[in-house]
Amino acid sequence: MDQNTIFDVVIVGSGHAGAALAISLRQKGFTGSILLTGDEATPPYERPPLSKEYLQGKIEDKQLLIRPEEFWTEQRITLAMGCAVNELNTSQRYVALTDGRTLGFNWCVLATGGKVRRLNCEGADLAGIHSLRNLADAKRIRDELTDVSQIAVIGAGYIGLEFAASARELGKTVTVIETQDRVLSRVTSPVVASFLEEQHVRRGVTFHFGQGVSALRGDGALQSVLLEDGTSIPAQMAICGIGIDAETDLAEAAGLDCEHGVLVDSCFRTSSPGILAIGDCSRHPNPFAGSLWRLESVQHAQDSAETVAALIMGDVAPYAQVPTFWSQQYDLRLQSAGLNIDADDIIVRGTTGSTPFCAIYTRKGQIIAIDAINAPRDFMGARRLIQQGSKPDRSSLIDTDIPLKSLV
Ligand code: FAD
Repeated sequence: MDQNTIFDVVIVGSGHAGAALAISLRQKGFTGSILLTGDEATPPYERPPLSKEYLQGKIEDKQLLIRPEEFWTEQRITLAMGCAVNELNTSQRYVALTDGRTLGFNWCVLATGGKVRRLNCEGADLAGIHSLRNLADAKRIRDELTDVSQIAVIGAGYIGLEFAASARELGKTVTVIETQDRVLSRVTSPVVASFLEEQHVRRGVTFHFGQGVSALRGDGALQSVLLEDGTSIPAQMAICGIGIDAETDLAEAAGLDCEHGVLVDSCFRTSSPGILAIGDCSRHPNPFAGSLWRLESVQHAQDSAETVAALIMGDVAPYAQVPTFWSQQYDLRLQSAGLNIDADDIIVRGTTGSTPFCAIYTRKGQIIAIDAINAPRDFMGARRLIQQGSKPDRSSLIDTDIPLKSLV
């Protein structure tokens, strides 16, 4: 190891969490040395637009950047882009980079995000089949989009639905295939799922529910998707949006405790002293879930980074932010706060067929989550009610004349 090169903080992964940590450390007055490494070539950029504005050609690469390139130099944050960390040694406290360097650290923070799940059926390696996780994926898809007219979206989660909306806005024929019986089955209620499904159908999307893909057919390049019931869907492009797993390869090889994510405590400390893990890759004790939980959202990446920046600065405060998430599909902005686990009542605020409308989830009278569609004020008000563990009257939650913030 180059004994002269020891960074105070080495951050592995330059996505939302890694970038937010470097920024937050400087904002809090941290003067030590920071190395931000990332295996992608582009400096830290926003991922959400990749399935939205970027895909539709409304914004270009530069507009995705989290900070202008000169920011990192001005802030004395050393970037090592296009450079993966392929070894973490927790006892001798160094990381080895794919460019051959071996660098020491006082703190090492893993912000390695997630890796997409891939189909393993016949034809899964045909040209025209894509996942959408990073800028390189989005570029490839955007380039190919101009030449295709029929697209199959596999998986009706957030990425699949956002992609479907973008592709419809570009005039493509879109078919969504989902093994469950509704959209967003993992995260939302039937009432919100049917509203969103109806909005997509109204704009020309076709759905096949309760169906897996049995094969992808084509001669070198995709021509059709064969469903388990024998239906054949013509498509020159397929987007596979069947979720991600935490990227834990480096952590596991280093001997850190991992189970569906790098296991951390409420301050994002791993099983090894001085090694922390934040963002999508970490699984933490979440007070709103009441158990270990892995969150995949920009807000969580930001909040976990803030908690760790404070910790490095000597302020040990457990993480207790209400989980939040947003999605944009057509002119619909879905904002969610809290976790609807074990909800025993779902309260509809507004009219289900039109927006603004919300589904509010309660458990034993306590408000635990909200899905708000084109209802930003309700989202904000509910988030505070969730944070406080409030038990407002059911009738007040239904009454759209009563602002939720007045119940705080
Ligand atoms: P990432 O942003 O994934 O960053 C991890 C980085 O680490 C990657 O660049 C990865 O290549 C790198 N890496 C991994 N291993 C190594 C290694 N060994 N060495 C060096 N680098 C490594 N969230 C929302 O809240 N709202 C949205 O609307 C939304 N839309 C999304 C749309 C898309 C298309 C995608 C893909 C995600 C979206 N998300 C959205 C989710 C959100 O982007 C993620 O939750 C967030 O990016 C997580 O941040 P992260 O830093 O933990 O992981």
